[in-house]
Amino acid sequence: MAEAKIIDGKLMAQEVRENVATGVAFLQQHHGITPGLAVVLVGDNPASQIYIRNKGRATTAAGMKSFEHRFDAGLSEKDLLKLIETLNGDDNVNGILVQLPLPDHIDDTKVISAIAPEKDVDGFHVINTGLLATGGDGLVPGTPLGCLMMVKKYAGSLSGKNALVIGRSNIVGKPMAQLLLKESCTVTIGHSKTRDLKAECLRADILVVAVGVPNLVTGDMVKPGAVVIDVGQNIIPAPEKGEGKTRLVGDVDFDAVKNIAGAITPVPGGVGPMTIACLLKNTLTATCRQQGISLKEDT
Ligand code: NAP
Repeated sequence: MAEAKIIDGKLMAQEVRENVATGVAFLQQHHGITPGLAVVLVGDNPASQIYIRNKGRATTAAGMKSFEHRFDAGLSEKDLLKLIETLNGDDNVNGILVQLPLPDHIDDTKVISAIAPEKDVDGFHVINTGLLATGGDGLVPGTPLGCLMMVKKYAGSLSGKNALVIGRSNIVGKPMAQLLLKESCTVTIGHSKTRDLKAECLRADILVVAVGVPNLVTGDMVKPGAVVIDVGQNIIPAPEKGEGKTRLVGDVDFDAVKNIAGAITPVPGGVGPMTIACLLKNTLTATCRQQGISLKEDT
């Protein structure tokens, strides 16, 4: 059996970022507009701090303005909502992202609902999820958007193909399933109550796994030639690297599945880099829609 093509998320993300930078340069040159992304962080979650730093760097590297709003964990919900209202009304801000999770005393749903839907570059607002579900043109969450771009590149025509999405979260699984349905796949969603996950997997020409369980998908669960997208990010002990060391793995047993699949994303270096690239793409899309400008869809 031939080895699967390894889907290079870093390279694909670089291409998306270059296309976004080209779009930004066009907006600046022909319309005098520089897109701006505001990122809000409440608390000192170390993973969130790293995400925010990387997002800020990627935003400025694409030629956009980056506005960071950092607060300690004691910020009140009322003050956060007031900030969002200000950002909604700020013409320099085209995209707003509130880093989740928020501290327990703040209601995530209330905060996401307060973001103007046209600036909701994470695509979590109910207006945007509703538009996706009804086939409209809203803003789509970055992770599933990046996964779809990878699937489209490696699976050829998607129409009529069997797609299984494992995981039904609002941020990955559900929007992923909607996107694949929009591409005319026959979509199944697996989750923790699915009776025979292996049988569902073996039917899938396209398999997207977004669960958070290392090695959930093993070699004997994958249809030969399938395109496998591993969204999972799990930190596991790595005693081979030294005492107390860890490493990042996905939800798929990569070493076994790469001998069976047609194409597969590695972890790290697969879906992760595409998520930030698609956030930038969404910020450019949001800016163009707010300004009534149409750019060639080439990313
Ligand atoms: P989540 O909200 O915890 O959802 C996990 C889903 O997996 C749930 O729908 C759950 O089913 C299902 N599940 C749990 N155990 C299962 C099992 N044994 N068999 C089948 N399904 C099972 O997680 P999430 O936010 O979607 O994230 C999923 C993974 O993706 C995590 O590892 C996360 O770190 C990663 N992630 C990566 C990126 C990236 O940029 N690469 C972005 C976002 C998330 P129930 O609904 O029945 O409980």
